Amino acid sequence: MKAHDGLYIDGAWRPATGRDVIEVVNPADEQVIGRVPAGDALDVDTAARAARAALAAWAATPPAERAARLTALRDVLVARKDEIAETVTAELGSPPQFSQAVHASVPIAVAGSYAELAATHSFEEKVGNSTVLHEPVGVVGAITPWNYPLHQIVAKVAPALAAGCTVVLKPAEDTPLTAQLFAEAVHEAGVPAGVFNLVTGLGPVAGQALAEHPDVDLVSFTGSTAVGRRIGAVAGAAVKKVALELGGKSANVILPGADLAKAVGVGVANVMSNSGQTCSAWTRMLVHRDQYDEAVELAAAAAAKYGDRIGPVVNAKQQARVLGYIEKGVAEGARLVAGGPESPREQGYFVSPTVLADVTPEMTIAQEEIFGPVLSLLRYEDEEDALRIANGTVYGLAGAVWAGEESEAVAFARRMDTGQVDINGGRFNPLAPFGGYKQSGVGRELGSHGLAEYLQTKSLQF
Ligand code: NAD
Repeated sequence: MKAHDGLYIDGAWRPATGRDVIEVVNPADEQVIGRVPAGDALDVDTAARAARAALAAWAATPPAERAARLTALRDVLVARKDEIAETVTAELGSPPQFSQAVHASVPIAVAGSYAELAATHSFEEKVGNSTVLHEPVGVVGAITPWNYPLHQIVAKVAPALAAGCTVVLKPAEDTPLTAQLFAEAVHEAGVPAGVFNLVTGLGPVAGQALAEHPDVDLVSFTGSTAVGRRIGAVAGAAVKKVALELGGKSANVILPGADLAKAVGVGVANVMSNSGQTCSAWTRMLVHRDQYDEAVELAAAAAAKYGDRIGPVVNAKQQARVLGYIEKGVAEGARLVAGGPESPREQGYFVSPTVLADVTPEMTIAQEEIFGPVLSLLRYEDEEDALRIANGTVYGLAGAVWAGEESEAVAFARRMDTGQVDINGGRFNPLAPFGGYKQSGVGRELGSHGLAEYLQTKSLQF
C-alpha cells in the first residue's frame, strides 16, 4: 500500500507546510498501514488558490473535452480496480468481496455516468426571449466521510468537474489512502493542473479552513449532522452555496401483504452490509403486530448467519459508540435477540451483528443514528401507526416499503418524509437523486440532479 508524504496541489505532490501526520490504521488488526500529512490552513490556502487560478480555463473547456477527461478517469478507475478494493479493505476493514463489488465498482459507474452527462447535458436553454446559461458555480470545497471512501469522493468530484468547477478535497482522516489513489487517477486521466487538489488533514483544522476559505464558492459536505450544522453556519455567514449529505435513521416498513421472509432477509442484509456504516441503512424495521414474533425470529436467524462474514467498524471510537448504543437499548427495555454489546474478537474493532426487538419509537436507539450493524424491530398497530413511526425522527434520508401489491407500497412511500424509498427491494440506481428530507441534508447527489448542484444560471434577455 503506497502512502504519499505530500499533498496533491496544482498537478503535483508537494510537501505540507507543517510536519504533523495522520496514522492510518487497519481496523481489522489495529496495525498502522501508512502515514499521510495533516495539512493545515496554509496548505488549504495554497490548494484553494490553485483551484481558483485553474477555474477560468476549466470552465471555458468545452463540455466534450471535460467529458473526455472523465471517461479517462473512469478508465483509470477500471484499470486500478483491484488496487482500489485492496486499499479500501486495508483502511476501512470492508471484506474483500464487498470492496470489489461496491467500494470499487459503484464509483466507476458514477464516474461513467458523469462522463456521459458532461457530453449530453444542455448547458444552455431558451426561455421565451431569454437564453439561460448554466455556468459552473466556481471553486468547490469537498469534505467527505470514511464510510464509502471512494464513492463519497467521486459523487462530488465527478459532477463538479463535469460542470466546469475546480475542486479542493479534504477526505476523512480514517481513509486518506483511497483519496490519494483517487488523486493519482485524476492525474493519470490528464485533468489539468489545479482543477483537482487534495489536502489530507483533520476536520477541525483543514476541513474548517476549507469551509471558511474565501476562494471557495460551494462547500459540499457529507458526514455527521453535528458537523454539517457547523458547516452550514459557516457557509451561511459568508453567503456561500452549501450542499449537505448528513445522517439517517431510515425505516423499513413491512406491510401485512408482503413476502415477510424476503422483506426481513433483505432488510437484515441492508443493515449489516458495510458493517452498518451506511447513512441510508434501514436501521428501523417496522412490522405489523400480527407478524411481529415471526419477523423477530427470522431477523435473529438472519443476523446470526452473518457471524464472521462481517467486517470491523472503522475505528475504536466507533466501536465504543456502537457497543454503547446496544447497551443503552437494553437498558431502555429493548430485548436482545442476536449479537450484543461484547466485542466478538480480541483484536480489531468488531461488533457482532445485533438485533434488538421490542424497540419503541421514543427509545434512543430508535431516534439516533448508530452507524453500526444494529437493527431495531418496532411493532405497529395499523398503517397510520406505521407512518407515524416511520416519519417520527428528525431524519429523512431513505427507506423501504414492502407490500403484496406494488401500488400499495407506492401509496405508502408517497406519504413518507424521506428522499429515497426502495419498493419491494428495488435496486440501487446511480442516476437517481440521493439526498435528505429534514435534518438529513440539503441538496442532492448523483445523476443530473447532482450535476445541477454545481451549476448556477445566468439569463440573457433578447
Ligand atoms: P464527520 O462529520 O465526523 O466527518 C465527515 C468529514 O468532515 C471528515 O472529512 C471530517 O474530517 C470533516 N470534519 C470534521 N469536523 C469538521 C469541521 N469542524 N469542519 C470541517 N470539516 C470537518 O462524520 P464521519 O464520522 O466521518 O461520518 C459518519 C457520518 O456521516 C454519519 O453520521 C453518516 O450518517 C454520515 N454520512 C452521510 C451520508 C449521506 O449521504 N447523507 C453519507 C455518508 C455518511
